Amino acid sequence: MADSRSFSPIQYPSTLGVEEARSRIVEVCSSRALPGEEVALEAALGRVTTAAIVAPFDVPGFTNSAMDGFALRGDELPASGERRFRLIGEVFAGSGAAADVVAGTCLRITTGAPMPHGADTVVMKESTRVDGDHVIVEAGTRSGANVRPAGEDYGAGDAAIARGSVLTPARIGVLASFGATRVAVSRRARAILLTTGDELVAPGLPLGFGQIHDSNRSSLGALLEQYGVALVRHERVRDDPRILREALVRAGADADIVLSSGGVSAGEADYLPALIGELGTIHFWKVRIKPGMPFLFGEVGNALMFALPGNPVSGVAIFLTLLKPGLDAMSGLSVAPRRIRARLTHAIDKRHGRAEFQRALLRCDDEGCLHVSAFPRQGSGMLRGVADADALVMLPEGARTFAAGDVVDVLPLAGWSR
Ligand code: AMP
Ligand code: MG
Repeated sequence: MADSRSFSPIQYPSTLGVEEARSRIVEVCSSRALPGEEVALEAALGRVTTAAIVAPFDVPGFTNSAMDGFALRGDELPASGERRFRLIGEVFAGSGAAADVVAGTCLRITTGAPMPHGADTVVMKESTRVDGDHVIVEAGTRSGANVRPAGEDYGAGDAAIARGSVLTPARIGVLASFGATRVAVSRRARAILLTTGDELVAPGLPLGFGQIHDSNRSSLGALLEQYGVALVRHERVRDDPRILREALVRAGADADIVLSSGGVSAGEADYLPALIGELGTIHFWKVRIKPGMPFLFGEVGNALMFALPGNPVSGVAIFLTLLKPGLDAMSGLSVAPRRIRARLTHAIDKRHGRAEFQRALLRCDDEGCLHVSAFPRQGSGMLRGVADADALVMLPEGARTFAAGDVVDVLPLAGWSR
């Protein structure tokens, strides 16, 4: 059994390109689809549907007015000038049945009220004048105007929400309009977060010499929360192979995914690759990416293991670009993320061969074109870069110079749209 004296780091020669790494993750994660469950609509935001949702009846269920005004017969509208109609009553949204509209008459009607029998047109209030028990209607309204037919929104039996869709506020509203109170979704992934490193101290406690606060626990924990993953527990683990082994064994038994930070590079205290190789499986270790090269994807116990480098920027970048597609695959999400491209505002001289994620600001100009400005300082230890950024520029593999105006792939961060 390895301990801190007899431990020797493993050699693992192969590295993958980012696309290859992502498809490997998606392939493995797709085979680990999360089971389904039913949740109340109040708890459904951001969850992924496990069944197609079909409209159970027409929505709206009855033909109704799209305006506040007067319901009448379209064939009686004046072709020019004005015409008088006798006002025989009113019908409001939610009020009971109204009188029938017969020749020469009209009913006062509000938006959403069922169209009275005999009427097929609503003249909006603004095109009318009331004169005692008569309404004077100006020409200009088309026969059939301002009426919403039954089933205009969803007809009974219409496919409404596809299986594998994320439940947005509007889609939750659609379910409610169908009378549903619960919805079938994939269960949340259950994650255990391990932050490793002898230098780590919990926020709130004083720092000794050479120590830092464990910020990854908070940033990675928040990313998990943001993408709907349930954090079962967090453990802060020392760089000690015996303690790390125990933590991995426990975590692998209790979660769908284990997310670790630190200890996965080639330093003297980086025990994770050998331990994961010994306790489980390594799908790959090291990706040709900057930052985040030492990232390892494997399995421990029953859990998928995502071992992120400790570097806070690497952690966030790898989470968003590699782990997130895996989470989506586990939850059965069927829509692939859209490719977004923008023009660089400044030249970038990329001297290394790896792909690179640069922290950046994304802006849309008045002509509707997207422009992206990578920060001049891209230190991979600097959380500031990610904190100030609202997008990542994704530069492909190969050393080359990108000129200002070159079109590159960008990944907008959650803060971009609000
Ligand atoms: P490692 O991947 O363990 O070699 O760590 C790389 C860098 O990230 C080192 O500077 C660590 O001190 C730092 N680091 C590791 N874990 C954390 C953490 N949980 N929070 C903040 N920084 C960390
Ligand atoms: Mg470390």
